[in-house]
Amino acid sequence: MRVLLIEDDDRVAGPLVEGLHRFGFTVHRARTGQEGLAAGDSDMVLLDLGLPDMDGIEVCRTLRTRSQVPIIMITARSDEVDRVLGLEIGADDYLSKPFGVRELIARIRAVARRTQIPYGPVGAAPSGQPAAGVGAPARGVQHIGPLTVDRRTRQVRLDGTPVALSPKEFDLLACLADDPGAVCTRQHILDRVWQPNYFGPTKTLDVHIAALRRKLGDSAWIDTVRGVGFRLQPPTGTPAPPAPTGTPAPPPAPTGTPAPPPAPTGTPAPPPAPAGTSAPSARPAYGWDAR
Ligand code: CA
Repeated sequence: MRVLLIEDDDRVAGPLVEGLHRFGFTVHRARTGQEGLAAGDSDMVLLDLGLPDMDGIEVCRTLRTRSQVPIIMITARSDEVDRVLGLEIGADDYLSKPFGVRELIARIRAVARRTQIPYGPVGAAPSGQPAAGVGAPARGVQHIGPLTVDRRTRQVRLDGTPVALSPKEFDLLACLADDPGAVCTRQHILDRVWQPNYFGPTKTLDVHIAALRRKLGDSAWIDTVRGVGFRLQPPTGTPAPPAPTGTPAPPPAPTGTPAPPPAPTGTPAPPPAPAGTSAPSARPAYGWDAR
């Protein structure tokens, strides 16, 4: 994983660069906001909010206009307003100074899991992740009935129509979508989507679940399992979605081909398919497009 560290203070950056190297990360260090914005692609950005040339919040905002790269803010204890603002404009997490390398690594891993980028030593395959198929790494587009979840672009579509979700709503949906049909416990969701040891009101989770249900247009998408957690599944009666490109499927009639000539008079037309029958789906309702 390539980490871009934007931090002006050598006393902070030195041990971080060394520690990240030790854990197998490739680190590019930038000392100013401009330098950070000019740096090449990275898989994760560690962003100090107190930079000499520009506000770290501005760096965060600019990064977000062009990329969905995960951003962890590095903040001073007094930066609470900036932390909140940073999270609202799209940073994924924050660390308050002082913090240890192990805490940073744990935070990077948690954010990487949440945003589904493979982490680990450069060149190593993400462990335990098959290349394709159900449960594959979320580099592709996941299909759950008519719902598609693209973790790479953080886009969600329902029957092909984009669904606008807040960052937290997306993380929550992605968490539930990790194992469609299985129950996600409240604690698991809070740990994954908020942060480990989240002590805030658990009502926050219910509020986000309600918002997701509303945006998915059918509360049956998310089952409440009383006293345990939640389960994501397509509402019953949801028709199978069209097959994705690359999957063998019955070929559609080519565009522009005229309809077959009408049957000669006297010949009965073939009976219409009985209601409720749909074309056989070439793949299950749950699955992934490889990318
Ligand atoms: Ca600084």
